[in-house]
This record gives sequence, structure tokens and C-alpha cells, in this order.
Amino acid sequence: MDQVNKIKKLFEKYGLTYHIVKFAAAVYSDNCLNEDINVDQYNDKLQNIFNNLSDLTLKEDMLMKLRKRAITKLADLLKCTRMMTAENEHKLSIRLLSNVALGRGSQISLDIGLAVNNKNNDKTSLVTIRPMRNLSAKEISYYALFNKLDDFLHSNFLTATSEDESIQKTTERFINDLQVNFPSTVSTIFRTGEKISEKTSAIAYCLLCQGVMDVDMSPSSAMEATKYSKYVSLMGVKALKLSLKELKNEETNEKKCNGCKCRNKQDLKEEIVESLCYACAHIIQDLESLDDLPEEILNKEKDRLQFKKMEEQIKDFLL
Ligand SMILES: [Zn+2]
Repeated sequence: MDQVNKIKKLFEKYGLTYHIVKFAAAVYSDNCLNEDINVDQYNDKLQNIFNNLSDLTLKEDMLMKLRKRAITKLADLLKCTRMMTAENEHKLSIRLLSNVALGRGSQISLDIGLAVNNKNNDKTSLVTIRPMRNLSAKEISYYALFNKLDDFLHSNFLTATSEDESIQKTTERFINDLQVNFPSTVSTIFRTGEKISEKTSAIAYCLLCQGVMDVDMSPSSAMEATKYSKYVSLMGVKALKLSLKELKNEETNEKKCNGCKCRNKQDLKEEIVESLCYACAHIIQDLESLDDLPEEILNKEKDRLQFKKMEEQIKDFLL
């Protein structure tokens, strides 16, 4: 409550209009702008997701993606068409390298661009603007100091974690250490990252992070190589005799267990992974149960499966 009061004070001081919404409510509820009575229940669900994830890297990645979803949803509810975020050059450089390490290379331009149009929704488009992306952290703190501006620092479960526990934190230390001796490190990483743009004319978006999915990759791509390496590790010598497609069939056959109920949940997980990007698939595979995911993700997946099933049924009649 103390935090809420601090935020309120700050907004009132600068005469800004504000809405304070609990994170869990924004993730799960469609009615989060009004007081929601189920906030405790949502908090438990959210807590379950993070307790279920074993790795801090995945936790941090999931937090970022859920936060993005929550903000996008609020913007939609408030009928905003522009959204401003406050990342500086330093923060974006860390994000850029972490994204590459996490397998989110194709999403870099969405995550660090100056004005990114989020066109997932057919009806509206939401532009994310990052006005401070060319300023360094130092420049911003000096500006705030000289102009006597107040700010608010929000801490979460990641704030006090060790630097070796997650890819994101290790990347941060790597950049910080380099920056000490080579002051142009951050801007070099940032400028190089700006030149990276995805080649695909995005046809598919990830269900969880709404990022671009790697579809129709060439057989020599890093993605296919990773997939093949995974199959070889799982299947051993057998993998060498079969092609990648055959391997997939073989894998599904092996997983079938005589009509017991355990298959249903496993099935949904496997189906949902097909609608996720490489990095999000990792997160979901680490989750024991999908029950705590936001309803809209599960519903979208069910719709997709329904559509797939229908397509399968009528495919012989199509010209
Ligand atoms: Zn994703």
C-alpha cells in the first residue's frame, strides 16, 4: 500500500492522469480497470506460474512477456493507440544481447525499435514508442538530478538475485564490466543491434509473447540444427536413420499410452508449443500445468485446434 501511495503522490505532483492496476489482475482479468474481487485468486495463479518455473532465466523472461501482455491489454482497454516506455540505451543493449542468447534473435527489432507497430489485433494497432532509447543511463540521471525530478524505483523478486543465476543478469554484468574499460561498449552494441531486422514478412505471431515466429526456416538454419540436435540426443542412433519428419511421427507414437487421462494434458502442452516461438516454448515446457496461464491464451489455442481439426476434415473436398 505504501508503494501505491508513493506512485499516487508522484503522479499528482506532476499533474498526470493515472490508473493503478495490480499486475495479476491485468494479466488475468478483462475487468481490471474497475475494482476486481478476485485479485487474490489471480495473485495465487501468477505465483503458481513463477513457482513452477525452475530457472531464473525463464522466470525473468516470462515476467517480461506477461508484463508486455498486461500493458498491451490495458492500452487496449483504455483505447490508447500510442504507448511510451522508458528504456535507455544501456537497458536496451542488455536486452539485445539477452534476446540473442535466449533464442529471440528474430524479435530484436520489436524489442528495441524506436516506434514499433504492434499489429496483432486486426482492428486496432498499438505503437510502442521508446523516446529515451538514445540516451545513456548517466545522461538521464544527471538530467533528473539537475532538474530536481523525483522518480520511483520498483523492485521485484529479481532485484536481489545473484549475477550468475540468469542469462539476463550475466549479460548485464558482462556489459557493465566491459563498459568500465571501454566506454563505447553500450553504444556499439546498440548501433549494431539497430541494423538487425527480421527477413520474414511475419505471417505468424507467438501466442504468448506476440513476437514474430520463425516459420519456413531453411534446413540449414540454426533453428533446424537445434531441433535436429535435440532429436539426436533423445533418440540416439535411431535418429540418424530417420529424417526429421519421420522422427516427429515416431516421437508421437512412442508417447501414446493406452488411453489414460495423462495424455490429454500432455497433448495440449505439445499442441500449444506449436503456436509459440522458440524461447516461449522453452518456458511452457518447463511448466508442470497450463491451468494457470491466462484464459485468453488457452482459448486462442483451443480455437486454433478447432480450426485445424475442421481443416483436416474438409481438406479432401477443397479444390
Ligand atoms: Zn514467444
